Amino acid sequence: MTNVISSNLGYPRIGKKREWKRALEGYWNKQLSEKELLEETDAIRFANLKKQKEIGIDLVPVGDFTLYDHVLDTSAMFGVVPDRFNYDGGKINLETYFAIARGTENAVASELTKWFNTNYHYIVPELENVTPTLTENLPLKFYKEAKEKLGIDGKPIILGPITYLKLSKGYEENDFSNVLQRFIPLYVQLLKELEEAGVSWVQIDEPILGTNLSKEVIQKAKQVYEQFHNAAPKLKLILQTYFEHIIHYEEIIEFPVQAIGLDFVHGESLELIKQFGFPEDKVLAAGIINGRNVWKADLEAKTDLLETIYQAVKNKQIIIQPSSSLLHVPVTKESEAQLDSNVKNGLSFANEKLDEIVTLTKGLQTGKQTIVQELARNNKELEQFNHSTHRNNEIVRKEVEALGITDAQRSLPFAERIKKQHEVLQLPLLPTTTIGSLPQTQEVRKTRTKWRQGTITEAEYEQFIRANITKWIHIQEKIGLDVLVHGEFERTDMVEYFGEKLNGFGVTEFGWVQSYGSRCVKPPLIFGDVSFDTAMTVKESIFAQSLTDKPVKGMLTGPVTILNWSFVHDDVPRETVQNQIALALRKEIKALETSGIKIIQVDEPALREGLPLDEKKQKAYLDAAVYAFRLATSSVQVQTQIHTHMCYSEFQKIYDAIDGLDADVISIETSRSHGEIISAFEENTYEKEIGLGVYDIHSPRVPDKNEIKQNISRALKTIPTEQFWINPDCGLKTRSEDETVGALKAMIHAAREIREEQ
Ligand code: GLN
Ligand code: ZN
Repeated sequence: MTNVISSNLGYPRIGKKREWKRALEGYWNKQLSEKELLEETDAIRFANLKKQKEIGIDLVPVGDFTLYDHVLDTSAMFGVVPDRFNYDGGKINLETYFAIARGTENAVASELTKWFNTNYHYIVPELENVTPTLTENLPLKFYKEAKEKLGIDGKPIILGPITYLKLSKGYEENDFSNVLQRFIPLYVQLLKELEEAGVSWVQIDEPILGTNLSKEVIQKAKQVYEQFHNAAPKLKLILQTYFEHIIHYEEIIEFPVQAIGLDFVHGESLELIKQFGFPEDKVLAAGIINGRNVWKADLEAKTDLLETIYQAVKNKQIIIQPSSSLLHVPVTKESEAQLDSNVKNGLSFANEKLDEIVTLTKGLQTGKQTIVQELARNNKELEQFNHSTHRNNEIVRKEVEALGITDAQRSLPFAERIKKQHEVLQLPLLPTTTIGSLPQTQEVRKTRTKWRQGTITEAEYEQFIRANITKWIHIQEKIGLDVLVHGEFERTDMVEYFGEKLNGFGVTEFGWVQSYGSRCVKPPLIFGDVSFDTAMTVKESIFAQSLTDKPVKGMLTGPVTILNWSFVHDDVPRETVQNQIALALRKEIKALETSGIKIIQVDEPALREGLPLDEKKQKAYLDAAVYAFRLATSSVQVQTQIHTHMCYSEFQKIYDAIDGLDADVISIETSRSHGEIISAFEENTYEKEIGLGVYDIHSPRVPDKNEIKQNISRALKTIPTEQFWINPDCGLKTRSEDETVGALKAMIHAAREIREEQ
């Protein structure tokens, strides 16, 4: 093997057409036996490995495949099973594995949390009371399998101990080093076994090194890697980081590993290697193709970048790879038959990215002149992409540039606006409302599919949506809600819906990526400058409003969330695109207001997830997010009430930003972490109106009135009654009609009794 090789950090698990999802769900629904599930998923895994080999990747990852989540796999491997699942040692069976992930009748599932700043969710390991043991050497199993069955000498992937334990819960922070000590022998044994089996390269993922860790933790990490090196000196360890540059770069590059993997797409790795150099005794694993977006790389520019990086590598040993696992991108653009061909020319999904890696590797190995054909083709396709409609829209760019801070300000401060709003809206004390979506039944989804396939007409579909709106406006009136919603029946997804209607967006057919477990999302593409085309939500909102005297909220997804949940091209700064989206929403909001809508809700459930890993960058991100939100919402009249909604609870950190949004009313998901959220408002004096979710919508269980009353009373100890709204945690689209009606009745009942007590 030469000194320049190609590698991959992880491949999408879900299959070209989500075969993986269907296999898992088939098993959960008891349509597939365990044997059938394993046969199907083995086939997907083998096909993935073969594909990577066929493309020409030198170091094909093994052990990145999973039946749910790779963090959960690590827990299973180390016997980290919470007490409530009655695990008594040994290799973990599928039943226990899925029980931890999905819960059982008697035991709630482990918590799901976002994997760094991505929309992938992992199962949080619970370390309380566990005695870690190595129940099974999973990387070894996958290594042997690939070798024996496919003749592939793979690169096992392991989630590193610092990251694994930092992502776990169930211990005190100052106990970190003790906890670490209990896991190290297991890692050591695992690595020794890999070495004995003849493994060459091993990738240890430590993305946590891209976050702000203390010096003590870095010191501990160093000792850990020394132990690894001593235990298995022949293994070539790649200490792999991604999503951000290494914060303690100078210390970490001295760790005794064979290679260090750096992300040259996110963060400042290039500046770091230029400033501090790169150690002569190590191989640089250079992540230069973006593993998080779907855009074709400019290979000419990447060749130059690679050349610059290569100059810093003294021993001339380099591995060329994506910036992160490709689990965050869809499998292949080959399946996209409907997309505009110019837009398609600008795309690169997992397989196409690996092709790019192979080309770049060849270029560095044998000289740029050997890849001139590939470069020319790449260049031509990018040209075509650049010429697609909406790719460059000077008008909207100028319009955004012309806007400034005064365009992002309501004309009166909250204290004065709210009086006018109260006059107009005439709501009772403790007004009741919901978050927006109402049950998306099978019927709703089937009808939409029929309309998309053309089996029913546009008019029939519209009629169907209207019938649903009508039905639910009546239900809400009957239950006695104060502020109604139209129900969002016309939306598959809160981002895709807008993506289909705004200029500069595209939607794929098979561009799915895993979000959590078998759940996949299909983020829209933002391939060009975003601009408003025609009204997106006005028809449904005014129809709903025409049916009732109660106010019906206009319902939009905010600029930050639309951006964070889309694949956005990277040749314009994200903030610019965010402001373009904001400007389009500003026009939509104007249209709603002109049509007589008095309350407009702009949801920002993804505001927090875009928070940069490096604390130094967080303020700039939040400032930009706040600006965009205000750009979208601030041009309304004083008496128009702006609401926003967020679905998470870790709030302290972003409190100022939340306040800065200047929304008149905010609703927040709360019921799973009441105390914590309320305390955020205790320490600050929040003046605006707020609805803390009073019941959990994730569970099919219908809450009873008293339990809701308790939640309300608890909140009212901190938040003045005049400021408080009563609403569920989040949208109700996943619930059935009966569950929804039952729970909302209980909520209204609770609200009435509390009002009487005032
Ligand atoms: N309005 C959206 C709904 O109710 C909000 C969803 C969300 O916060 N994720 O479905
Ligand atoms: Zn929500």
